Amino acid sequence: MKDNFSKSRRRVLKTSLVAVAGAAGLGSAVFPSRLRADDLPQVSEDDPTAKALEYVHDASTSETRTDSNAFCNNCLYYKGSKSDAWARCDLLPGKLVNGNGWCNVWTKKG
Ligand code: SF4
Repeated sequence: MKDNFSKSRRRVLKTSLVAVAGAAGLGSAVFPSRLRADDLPQVSEDDPTAKALEYVHDASTSETRTDSNAFCNNCLYYKGSKSDAWARCDLLPGKLVNGNGWCNVWTKKG
């Protein structure tokens, strides 16, 4: 029962964050940012959104990650190349995530 509730809450959070990220993406299309990725700060693991996503800089340290091949740098929402150490993420606007990081919204890049 508790597991179902947790999964349901996680699904709602995931959907909400994707919706917010989509809105943020639309906003940046309408109001293009002049900030380059180099100008952005690295996200802190203590950032409230990062915490909600269970984001970690080093995917191997996650206690909830189940796919050992899941990293930010092969996630649909990662805006860098596979070789970038840090890059933007649609779900953490205005911050950079580590290419070797992970969060619970990870979605395999197609
Ligand atoms: Fe962003 Fe994907 Fe990394 Fe999560 S796993 S922080 S959604 S790039």
